[in-house]
Amino acid sequence: MTRPDATDTTSFSSPLAAAIALLRDARRIVVFSGAGLSRASGIPTYRDADGLWKSQSALQFSHAEDLKRDPAGFTKFWGQRMSVVESAAPNPGHRALAQLQRLRPATRLVTQNVDGLLTQAGGLDVLELHGSLRRWRCDHCGNRSGPWPFHRCLRCGSHARPDVVMFGEMLNPGVLLEAQVAAQESDLFMVVGSTTIVYPAAELPELAMARGSRLITLNLEPLPHLDDSAAVVLRGTSEDLLPRLLAGLGG
Ligand SMILES: [Zn+2]
Repeated sequence: MTRPDATDTTSFSSPLAAAIALLRDARRIVVFSGAGLSRASGIPTYRDADGLWKSQSALQFSHAEDLKRDPAGFTKFWGQRMSVVESAAPNPGHRALAQLQRLRPATRLVTQNVDGLLTQAGGLDVLELHGSLRRWRCDHCGNRSGPWPFHRCLRCGSHARPDVVMFGEMLNPGVLLEAQVAAQESDLFMVVGSTTIVYPAAELPELAMARGSRLITLNLEPLPHLDDSAAVVLRGTSEDLLPRLLAGLGG
């Protein structure tokens, strides 16, 4: 008996089986993840009803200029957010993606998340589009290495700020370019727990598909703008589905 052709995903018994076949046949996989991946780790998301950005202080300190306006309030607010992230642990979804990368070393992990949990789970060279809440950087000279006595940079004396992209700021162009190239070179692009509405999340799957990459969407809610173009749509949580995908791959 011949193995079902992974290019015809309708011949599989379930979407999960079809996704496993696509992963097995892919040479260069890009996994693009968003807040849904970290929800089971207790990381508050930007846009959920109970999200990070609903509180008044979040609105006050979500722009980098807020540091100059109120350095003490800014530092306190972000310090608290950073300690939430620091005490969070990777969930089975993060661990499955790190495992996928061990099985298939050409796999690139691109994320909108700033919690560093993919790296903590063992992911390598994770492309963090929005930076990381696991480190500070100098607001002036870009120094990323501490210590930060009184939240000041030891090189230039300026204030420390979290190394994340805040509202009104540009993404790190080098990280973005690497993600775009990875998307274009991929033959399988998987969206995990991201609504992929905001830039550049919206652009990356399009870049991949324009070069012939197949698309898998894995999300709790439908993604109307992407699901129609996907070879496989997986509906559910990443902490449930990703370990099952990996088990199917023999990982
Ligand atoms: Zn500095």
